[in-house]
Amino acid sequence: MKTNLRDRLYTTEAIVLSRLDYGEADRILTVFTPGMGKLGIIAKGARRQKSRSGPQLDYFTRVTLHLARGRDLDVVTGAETIDAHGHLRDALVAYGHASYFAELVRTLTQEREENRRVYELLAKSLALLDEGIDPWPVARHFELVLLAALGYRPELYECVQCHQALEAVANAYSPIQGGVLCPRCRSTDPSALALSVNAQKYLRVLDRNGLAAAVRLRPSERERMEVEQTLKQHFRIVAERDFTSLAVLQHLLDLPAASPAQPDIAFPSA
Ligand SMILES: [Zn+2]
Repeated sequence: MKTNLRDRLYTTEAIVLSRLDYGEADRILTVFTPGMGKLGIIAKGARRQKSRSGPQLDYFTRVTLHLARGRDLDVVTGAETIDAHGHLRDALVAYGHASYFAELVRTLTQEREENRRVYELLAKSLALLDEGIDPWPVARHFELVLLAALGYRPELYECVQCHQALEAVANAYSPIQGGVLCPRCRSTDPSALALSVNAQKYLRVLDRNGLAAAVRLRPSERERMEVEQTLKQHFRIVAERDFTSLAVLQHLLDLPAASPAQPDIAFPSA
């Protein structure tokens, strides 16, 4: 049955997660939308000069997309930039974090499954990186809220095994059980990670009071490491894989700060 063109057209806001050159001049993109979640689309002729929809569809750009429903992929008929996040392209560490956020969302969400909380989190977090806010707390906030938005909210207030309220002592974090273990239950997960009082406090402030409160805390290097490992290991369990953007990011963070050289790196594109 034929449908007329007008019935096939629709408009949505979207953030570009990844893109892939296709054929002579086309580009296949993965975007995240507020109402339809992750979406694969095709921008025909996007790599030709003066393309109508080409220049706006860069990584991490927030756009209004005009689309036509296609047999396989919906087709871009036009696009307007809402926020290009242009500063991200001049700041390698921020760009590396944006790549990590995009990879987490792309890996852990399903096509056409609405999740407005994920969309808002991604949009806000990219905007903060673009403003030059310290990526470390932005990334920990992103990870913690993303876990919750996907149904994996870490248990930070009672022991995930015996359900007793946690005391202000060194506990441990079990990524497999999805939360903190009290000293009595720690042996139920030999791979549980040590979590100091201050690291637990940081996670709880982030969870209860949000990013603005967390940026006022000054965790030590060791506490930062504990918080970071806790969240990263949890994602590894949820995703059952490592994230390529994390290896790239670690490489960027290990570079001597004064080095003007641009590393020869490729960000994952699909
Ligand atoms: Zn317990």
